[in-house]
Amino acid sequence: MNLLDGKLVSAKIKEDIKKEAEAFTRQSGRRPHLVAILVGNDGGSETYVASKMRNCELVGFESTNIRYDVNISEEELIAKIKEINQDTSIDGLIVQLPLPKHIDPEKITEAIDYRKDVDGFHPINLGRMQRNLSCFVPATPYGIMLMLEYYNIDTAGKKAVVVGRSNIVGSPMSILLARNSNPGNCTVTLTHSRTANLKDEVLAGDIVVAAIGRKHFVTADMVKEGAVVIDVGINREESSETKSGFKLYGDVDFEEVSKKASWITPVPGGVGLMTIVGLLKNTLEAAKGTVYSK
Ligand code: NDP
Repeated sequence: MNLLDGKLVSAKIKEDIKKEAEAFTRQSGRRPHLVAILVGNDGGSETYVASKMRNCELVGFESTNIRYDVNISEEELIAKIKEINQDTSIDGLIVQLPLPKHIDPEKITEAIDYRKDVDGFHPINLGRMQRNLSCFVPATPYGIMLMLEYYNIDTAGKKAVVVGRSNIVGSPMSILLARNSNPGNCTVTLTHSRTANLKDEVLAGDIVVAAIGRKHFVTADMVKEGAVVIDVGINREESSETKSGFKLYGDVDFEEVSKKASWITPVPGGVGLMTIVGLLKNTLEAAKGTVYSK
């Protein structure tokens, strides 16, 4: 088993981003600027946003976290998004999901100017991605592709099985792996909770991406000998063993599956760190105007 080491790869790519950000700042007289809107007090969301902000500062970006009470109305939130869309000092805007039930995430996603949509969730970015046109690729699948690229994983002609079809992870991942690109050129099966004989589908995968949200869902008997296994899952459980009071578990039973896999990501220390890299790269591209000209 070889480790797809998110710690190592993210640190290397962040060094490059930092150098590029310095060059951008020298030329333009300002830093790339990411704004993150956080609604409510969800513990997981607070941790993710804090980490995104910290990483922005580490690579020399400006970062702003706008927080709202859980009761903010959809109209108020959209008004703020529209204001940010017009603000030329801001390059990227993300609204942390999940949102409270009274706010429609689709409306919020579509309110963001697709040229600032560094999460890559806007339908224009998703459509352009499907057509292999320049766009912001959703941060988690983007990070996974960067990881596969870094380790030179041979994906062409391989059978990839993605478990989970969410708009932010599973679906875009399946599109990227199927595209005529490197990494890519896989024959992809996208599975979900209504898939019949899921175990047989996963067993056929040379590459398996697990994005389900259930601790240790993918077990060793579901995985082919020598498969490349990417674990997207972040399942938080209370724990007295850690300082934070939480422990993170992946969607893959790492201990057993790693005995069969040729390559595997750990949790933590895998895809989560690469997601941040995807977001930082998109923000830098937004500032430079290389995806959509300014
Ligand atoms: P969603 O809840 O949006 O989607 C989960 C998907 O898994 C759905 O498509 C669902 O199918 C499928 N699923 C659920 N149960 C089963 C089952 N028994 N068999 C087969 N498929 C099933 O989750 P996300 O995609 O947002 O997130 C997935 C996981 O990844 C979570 O743990 C999340 O915390 C983590 N995550 C990690 C990130 C990172 O940076 N590492 C970033 C984003 C998410 P159906 O559509 O039929 O309901």
